[in-house]
Amino acid sequence: MHRISMLAGALLMAGVLSAQEWKPESTEWYYPAPPVVKPGKTLGQPPSDAVVLFDGKDLSQWVSVNDEEAKWKVVNGEMIVVPGTGGVKTKAYFGDCQLHIEFKSPPAEKYNGQGRGNSGVFLQSRYEVQILDGDNNHTYVNGMVGSIYKQSAPSANAYTRNGEWQVYDIYWKAPRFGTAGVLEEPARITVTLNGILIQNNYVVKGHTPYVGLPEYHAHGRLPLMLQDHGTAVAFRNIWIRNL
Ligand code: MG
Repeated sequence: MHRISMLAGALLMAGVLSAQEWKPESTEWYYPAPPVVKPGKTLGQPPSDAVVLFDGKDLSQWVSVNDEEAKWKVVNGEMIVVPGTGGVKTKAYFGDCQLHIEFKSPPAEKYNGQGRGNSGVFLQSRYEVQILDGDNNHTYVNGMVGSIYKQSAPSANAYTRNGEWQVYDIYWKAPRFGTAGVLEEPARITVTLNGILIQNNYVVKGHTPYVGLPEYHAHGRLPLMLQDHGTAVAFRNIWIRNL
């Protein structure tokens, strides 16, 4: 809140200023001015303050989850999971952020359910937004594409067709922990898939295990992680804004 409105509020509480004496400028503030951020040339391209994590060229921003060289491949501007090589994570660490990431499922072929095009976006390496083929693919809804894995089903299936690029925009508020590691504020997440709101300020219950219940364990900034779940999911145009 700016000092003008704070002053007006203080005067109001002190009985110096009655509500009838409010002026338009009593509730207007000018500082601090938000920074100028220039949008990308077309929708979905990185804005001027984004950290570009993959622009089609190389894996220079990534390492394997074991802190070795990232073993996924880059083909025709796409970063593709090499099944069995493990997940990859960013060299940079993140807290609150806005993430843009595009993915494409491999050909559906014979696989179904969790076996078809499974990967995942792990915010702070722990909290998964599921990546899965959502084209006529039957599975548990809190594990379908757009779910917060095993916590929250998406409010819509906004996936288009197998073989087409899918666009996630994720807005992440990291959990807050006190000095003794006690959870003070859970994480919150908002997700759009192909521009359609599918998770609206969801309060995250904890990490997102395959077996068991979500829990929080204190942590600070951590890498963004992408999952190897055994299928050759492709990625492109990955960027993030620190908030
Ligand atoms: Mg997954």
